[in-house]
Amino acid sequence: MISTAYARWTPDPAARQRVASHIVEHEGDELRLWVEDGAVHTALPWWEFERRTLLETGLPTQQPTYSRSVIPYTAIPFTLRARLNRVRIAALRRRSEDSGFPADPVETGVDRFRESLWTQAAELAGVPLHAPETARTLVLTHDVDEEYGWPGIETLRRIERDLGVASAFGVLSQRYTAAERDLQALIDDGCEVFSHGYLHDGTLAFLPADELRRRLHHFFEVYPSMRGQVRGFRAGQLVRSRSMFEVVAEVFDYDLTPPTVELGGPHGWRTGCATTIPFVDEHGLAHLPLTLPQDYFLAFIDRLRPDEIARRWLDAAEAVWSVGGTAVHLVHPDNVRRRPALAAAYRTFLEQALDAGARVRLPHQVMAADLPSAPEPT
Ligand SMILES: [Zn+2]
Repeated sequence: MISTAYARWTPDPAARQRVASHIVEHEGDELRLWVEDGAVHTALPWWEFERRTLLETGLPTQQPTYSRSVIPYTAIPFTLRARLNRVRIAALRRRSEDSGFPADPVETGVDRFRESLWTQAAELAGVPLHAPETARTLVLTHDVDEEYGWPGIETLRRIERDLGVASAFGVLSQRYTAAERDLQALIDDGCEVFSHGYLHDGTLAFLPADELRRRLHHFFEVYPSMRGQVRGFRAGQLVRSRSMFEVVAEVFDYDLTPPTVELGGPHGWRTGCATTIPFVDEHGLAHLPLTLPQDYFLAFIDRLRPDEIARRWLDAAEAVWSVGGTAVHLVHPDNVRRRPALAAAYRTFLEQALDAGARVRLPHQVMAADLPSAPEPT
């Protein structure tokens, strides 16, 4: 298994080996660290814990019910769908035996523990830790889930241009067809385009590999000029599986799918990879976790005011930055069109984040800097 910590803390392979040799695992009930006989001991099987957590081995493997229906979910009007979703989420919350992990709005315990572990181990190994330049990094993303949302792009870009920042747009290849010149215009404007998949129907993660492969390559058949320019992917509705990521790794350089924590998403009450730091999975695919609460839940499930939404985003960003994570934000152009107050919340959040020292970067910039080379498996 590949450790996130490897990529983040010690990019030099020889140093990684030396640090790793100083971490000794123990079976036990408690999560704690101590130093004995020149090695850092953990009272849990650390590598197993990290692997299981980041790869979400507890994620349900069945396809979400709504994506199995013969009637596409989009056949239900948005307002009714949001109302049904509020009922569904309230029921999920009541029925769940909630462990509280990963914590919401942001889980920071895993990242804190990892840093503590690697700091101590590196000291023992006499190896300096890699200090990545990710302080207060903010990544702005916008998934264009439907054609209806296209005018919302300009609304968001106007705010960003006023504040001198750029963002990344997730585009579908089958549900609608964007004009290639519009995608190129976003890139020429300093933005990034990534693939948001094929139909946004929540099925990609459960398809046979050949059909999944066809749907992922479809993006470059529809938008051939994006070859070499589009390197990232995020699955529609964040519906994910480990077998999906194996095929995604063949087509894309990095992935933006796993949320650090998600409550009431397609996979159930509480899910998430529990880290705010980019990591490389068992297939060598680099993931940039979605760390901030999504616009949809704040605006249409919790129905918060714009100032409350901006406050939730900023508080979560501060929590991410406090553990050296990368704050990744998502606001949908279609949601901004449906509820213009979201644009006001976005502007407030961006202004306050920039005042607080946020450094806005694109996904490809973060992934190039944070993951200079795919670490070798242990
Ligand atoms: Zn989406």
